[in-house]
Amino acid sequence: MAGATVAIGIDLGTTYSCVGVWRNGRVEIVANDQGNRTTPSYVAFTKDEKLVGEGANNQLASNASNTIFDVKRLIGRRFSDSSVKRDAKYWPFVLIKGRDDRPRIKVSYHGREKQFSPEEISAMVLVKMKETAEIFVGPGTTIKNAVITVPAYFNNSQRKATKDAAAIAGLKVMRMINEPTAAAIAYSLERKWRDGEESVLLVYDLGGGTLDVSLVVVKKGLLQVKATAGDNHLGGEDFTNNMVDHFVKEFEKRNHKDISGDKRAVRRLRNSCEKAKRMLSSNAQTVVDIDALFEGIDFHSSINRALFEQLNVDLFRKCMEPIETCLQDAKMDRKKVDEVVLVGGSTRIPRVHRLVQDFFGKEPCKSINADEAVAYGATVQAANLMGQINHDLLMQLIDVTPLSQGLEIEGGLMSVLIRRNTTIPITKEKTFVTTVDYQTVMTFGVYEGERAMAVDNSLRGSLSLSGLTLAPKGVTVINVRFEIDEDGILHVSAEDKVSAQKENITIMNDPGRFSIEEIKGMVEEAKKYKAVDLEHKKKVQARNDIDNFLYTMRNNIKKLQDAVDGTTMWLENNELNMAQINAKKKQLESIIRQTSKP
Ligand code: ADP
Ligand code: MG
Repeated sequence: MAGATVAIGIDLGTTYSCVGVWRNGRVEIVANDQGNRTTPSYVAFTKDEKLVGEGANNQLASNASNTIFDVKRLIGRRFSDSSVKRDAKYWPFVLIKGRDDRPRIKVSYHGREKQFSPEEISAMVLVKMKETAEIFVGPGTTIKNAVITVPAYFNNSQRKATKDAAAIAGLKVMRMINEPTAAAIAYSLERKWRDGEESVLLVYDLGGGTLDVSLVVVKKGLLQVKATAGDNHLGGEDFTNNMVDHFVKEFEKRNHKDISGDKRAVRRLRNSCEKAKRMLSSNAQTVVDIDALFEGIDFHSSINRALFEQLNVDLFRKCMEPIETCLQDAKMDRKKVDEVVLVGGSTRIPRVHRLVQDFFGKEPCKSINADEAVAYGATVQAANLMGQINHDLLMQLIDVTPLSQGLEIEGGLMSVLIRRNTTIPITKEKTFVTTVDYQTVMTFGVYEGERAMAVDNSLRGSLSLSGLTLAPKGVTVINVRFEIDEDGILHVSAEDKVSAQKENITIMNDPGRFSIEEIKGMVEEAKKYKAVDLEHKKKVQARNDIDNFLYTMRNNIKKLQDAVDGTTMWLENNELNMAQINAKKKQLESIIRQTSKP
């Protein structure tokens, strides 16, 4: 199969990523080189090479400060974002402030200090997933097109930044779809539909870093998202962090020492907490045992499920809020929900499972694989866009935008152009007039969020139109246009209606946007590093080859030595006849011939 026609779907997760390939009329979730069907979203740098996935995760203990993870919690955010500051406490890698308040990750790579943007790190994970698929499809395959998923509750900057990451990875994003929508596709294909049957689905996706809740109406051939709600900074990583805080306090109480400044100690504690958290999903109690955690002091403690639930009681409450919001927005009573679909690793936490189950008074659907459903749905959509789907599996997707988009107007109010949960793609326009005589420039703040005052929402950037038609105030009319495309990305433009000219439109200071030149630069750099990594691999291979050669030679020398010694001893027997001596000579020659071959 030529690479250009291969449809792949990538679930780019906070903690794990998953890739699917459409083959022989169905989805194949592809296992990585270690045989696992999900791959850690980890990237590590060493003095010799870059490791992605399992390889990066495995060497975390010895190279913590150069092992990057959780980058999805950084993408499209500003360095000064309060959530970034909070998360950074638990990260063993160093974060610094780059241009325009963008976060950058500082590592040591090839023995030199190097900085990467979150987009570049995500691109490395995407390349790994793409290569995993390429190996599966066959040698020499190059895959160019993919459907990539994002949390439904991702904002505009996070979506744009994810798209940039794909561009850096050399992937063309055929479509970006929302993770719960992708899971709903998987559900829809897994079940048998009666003619005209319709089902109301609530998809609840709680992963490592994000929570999405989507209400979807599904029938054969059509999947319509009615509303979505969530939290783009709530997930399993936060439960683990709370557990870390708990044990830091316990260590301090016992030993009067604060370990929180020691990145290595915090990282080791975090690893143990991650394991303990998973244990508590199946056991009532578990231990945390770390030798020489800090200044040579061992740490041994235990935690039970009740304590874990108590530590995270506020977060668990936050996990339920979006369900109510989503139902309200969809104007749907909870009793109308036919199926509850749980997705994401954190829905294995018994408390989460039970809260959702109790809320709806029904057992969640069991037919969906919580770790693979998103990649599965993305792959179906990729095949769909490539026209490879069998007619009776064809499905139309109708999705919505998660957050209201608008402009700041007089009095600091938020003027909403596109309300949340509006079906996308959508275009909305609004006109404004000049407020001062002979005004030449008009500037708007573009905001995203649900509050009445613009400042309470998040500023996505500013829009400035200059060279306005000169006229007394109130005469010049400016038309502002908001367009949300099928990937959920907002495009803003403004036009002076009098001069009928569109000009000088920029959205400035948007953390989720690189210029085309910047992306080109990063693609070049990625290529350069790919060449360096390849060179390193070749060097390692060459060393292995010569090592094997030496090993064989050493064996051969030994064989030869044994034959020479044996024959010498054998000759000491004086009773030998001519035929025996000649036969021995032949045998010796044969051994020499065999051992002189490498
Ligand atoms: P993402 O898509 O955000 O990468 P996943 O759906 O892969 O997330 O889920 C990963 C999260 O699920 C991690 O925070 C992990 O700790 C958590 N997790 C996985 N298995 C379990 C389990 N058995 N119990 C509790 N949490 C789990
Ligand atoms: Mg996920």
